[in-house]
Amino acid sequence: MEEKPPDWYEPGLRHVWLPYVQMKTMREPLAVARTEGCRIVLDDGRELIDGVASWWTACHGYNHPYIRGAVERQLAVMPHVMLGGLAHEQAYALARRLAALMPGDLERVFFSDSGSVAVEVAMKMAVQYWVNQGVRTRKTFVAFRGGYHGDTTGAMAVCDVEAGMHALFRGFLPEHVIADLPVDEESAAALSRLLDTCASEIAAMIVEPLVQGAGGMRFHDADVLRRLRALADRYELLLIFDEVFTGFARTGTMFACEAAGVVPDIVTLSKALTGGTLPLAATIARRKVFDAFWSDDPAHALMHGPTFMGNALACAAANASLDLFEREPRLAQVKDISAALARGLAPCRDLPGVKDVRVLGAIGVVELERIVDLARLRARFVEEGVFIRPFGTTVYLTPAFTIEAEDLAKLTAAVVKVLGESGAGIS
Ligand code: PMP
Repeated sequence: MEEKPPDWYEPGLRHVWLPYVQMKTMREPLAVARTEGCRIVLDDGRELIDGVASWWTACHGYNHPYIRGAVERQLAVMPHVMLGGLAHEQAYALARRLAALMPGDLERVFFSDSGSVAVEVAMKMAVQYWVNQGVRTRKTFVAFRGGYHGDTTGAMAVCDVEAGMHALFRGFLPEHVIADLPVDEESAAALSRLLDTCASEIAAMIVEPLVQGAGGMRFHDADVLRRLRALADRYELLLIFDEVFTGFARTGTMFACEAAGVVPDIVTLSKALTGGTLPLAATIARRKVFDAFWSDDPAHALMHGPTFMGNALACAAANASLDLFEREPRLAQVKDISAALARGLAPCRDLPGVKDVRVLGAIGVVELERIVDLARLRARFVEEGVFIRPFGTTVYLTPAFTIEAEDLAKLTAAVVKVLGESGAGIS
């Protein structure tokens, strides 16, 4: 930090446990005073253009006045009541609106508070879907190499071990089948052969549609999803799309499943659901999944109920976020961002150490051969006045959809400049 940190910093740093980092050797996190649109204002007065949108959540930029107004109004009326035995308008309106946005008969919405828990709920739904129909053998999942679905135990177990950063928990986690994505006919045939051997034990296949995010921002095309749907139908498996990252226009359509014309059986959403203002997640099931729980037998009920599920403030934020998607030209903005990312990052192709440059929707990725000093690279971006957080071998941009063209150009220019330097940590 360039100036003296604020009073709260050092005393708090001695007690806070930070994510995904060796705290002994880490560079200290940047103290933030406030956010504004696509800017992060640091305590020492520096302003960073945000290239990450806080782990891909803040799709309308920070502090959007419309969302803030909705949350403030809800706060005055009722911040929270439990959804067990009580109902409130924000959660019910949101469930109805999400169901209307989803393709096909994805119409039953279970609320929770994080992407990982939304995945846990999807997995429980899938297993119990079979159990409720008298099938007790289907308790395993097929997931995919490069996939990431969260950090809770059930979700960890369907991550690719490397992409999910969970290798150390091998042996502790339940074992599922991690397969190659069916990216062509040959790999589809391989997956089909695999399912020949184990389908009777499989509850569902789970995939991040179009983009495997935390596993390295890897893209696949919509055919993969159509093949998965066909295989799920052939082997009578449920198909779960984890749209925690891809949901809400990040890949260019409101949901990634739309691009493939595929209706999965269960969808998970979180991240941009509240426009990045409050934690909220949803697991959305097709009618046939819900129908398997609809019974006179109490044991057929879904026994899940996070304390803060359907939190009224979070649902108010989500409803306001959906209003913004309706009223403002978000999809057109994503299209423009896509073109600007492609243009702005193209010069990276000629830089030494760059393996690939790819863009989908409002996701721009520069894949490097290696990053030798991640902390150094991250710090270089901050020196350039941008907040960009490379991981693994990936430098990526996932800006807010409301970012000004000029700010976006500064982000891409910073990537080109820093990756072109020797001593920036990449070689
Ligand atoms: N699924 C996907 C596809 C994700 O990208 C993430 C988070 N990066 C999660 C699940 C887990 O979400 P959360 O961090 O909110 O638990």
